[in-house]
Amino acid sequence: MSVQNLKLLSDGYFELDMGMLVYAKTPYYGQKYMAALKPLLIQTDSDNILVDTGIGELPEKYRKFYNTDRQVTLQQSLAGEGLSPDDISMVINTHLHVDHCGNNRLFKNAKFIVQDSELKYAYNPDRFQKGGYIEELFQGLDFTTVNGDSEIVSGVTVLLTSGHTPGHQSIVIDATRSKLGKTFVYCGDEAPLEENLQKRNITGILYSQVRSLAAIDRLRSIKAEHIYSHDRTQMEI
Ligand SMILES: [Zn+2]
Repeated sequence: MSVQNLKLLSDGYFELDMGMLVYAKTPYYGQKYMAALKPLLIQTDSDNILVDTGIGELPEKYRKFYNTDRQVTLQQSLAGEGLSPDDISMVINTHLHVDHCGNNRLFKNAKFIVQDSELKYAYNPDRFQKGGYIEELFQGLDFTTVNGDSEIVSGVTVLLTSGHTPGHQSIVIDATRSKLGKTFVYCGDEAPLEENLQKRNITGILYSQVRSLAAIDRLRSIKAEHIYSHDRTQMEI
């Protein structure tokens, strides 16, 4: 079994303060950024795997907190690949912040993969992280939890890259046997923008600055094409 195809999908955009994307960089505070929502489709011989699911249609009471532009939804984006939500056999969530698991409930046939430490934290976040999690988006879903680095299917490995949240994971995809001919790493929110990695700038939403910088250094050490979770200048791979 091997990875056959990769495709960056879209669930539109949502507004973030640049200060949330890059830590302690003064000119960024107060600057608005329409952040891209970029789930990744991984197709193997036997699986259609999604990495993250965007923000989706939030429950009514939360909508006022998020300015979204979903002219393209994940469902439409999948349809463009000839797929319906029922075709997705697995969802790997980098973490359970609202903009990464918003559409999880669409995928009735999927097995959900998350770090054990992330799932526990999502139900009981610290006060300063509470705004990032909405329990209705993941409550009761059938998660398979992993602890640390783990190969999920042949060619798709999760790496524990905590810091942004306690159980954040990044995904390494070996597509060397596909027409793409290389390896990719989906950084998730440890590097939402290219500059997080290039300049070793951690994000502004943090569980641990120290761990986040270690995670960035770990991601930098991987010889692969890096995919940034919210960078709107990188929409194709
Ligand atoms: Zn996040």
